[in-house]
Amino acid sequence: MKIVQEFKAFIARGRVFDLAIAVVMGGAFNAIVTSVVNDLIMPLLSIITMGTDFSALMITIGTGENAANLTYGNFIAAVIQFLMIALVIFFLIKAYNRFADKKFGEAPPTKTCPFCTSSIAEAATRCPHCTSVLDACKPGSSTGLLDDQPQDDLVIM
Ligand SMILES: [Zn+2]
Repeated sequence: MKIVQEFKAFIARGRVFDLAIAVVMGGAFNAIVTSVVNDLIMPLLSIITMGTDFSALMITIGTGENAANLTYGNFIAAVIQFLMIALVIFFLIKAYNRFADKKFGEAPPTKTCPFCTSSIAEAATRCPHCTSVLDACKPGSSTGLLDDQPQDDLVIM
């Protein structure tokens, strides 16, 4: 059966499983974000809006059976909810980035030795590889050997 072979190839082709995990995790994450917005933030917001029932806000156009109700209150509520979700996600990403920074840490700043081109600590005054004295190459010095080069070239990230 050719279609079975193709289906097997489709499943085995890598990303499908990762994608499935992403979708399931996204759904679970969505529940958290929705809960934060609906259970924590929206009640606080109703203090500011003094308990306005947005779903009751509407404009009625026409009369009788053919009247159209423009429920713009629901639209406002949807916009507010979207902004709150964006805000919550912004803070979650901010918190995650801080956590990730702390976990992996930042590499200490380095510079390149002008004599042997080894990567050495930024604050070093003597190269540990070739033992050259680097005092004159400190940033801000006007007599340094490397002062003609842009400072960016000295820093290896
Ligand atoms: Zn050196």
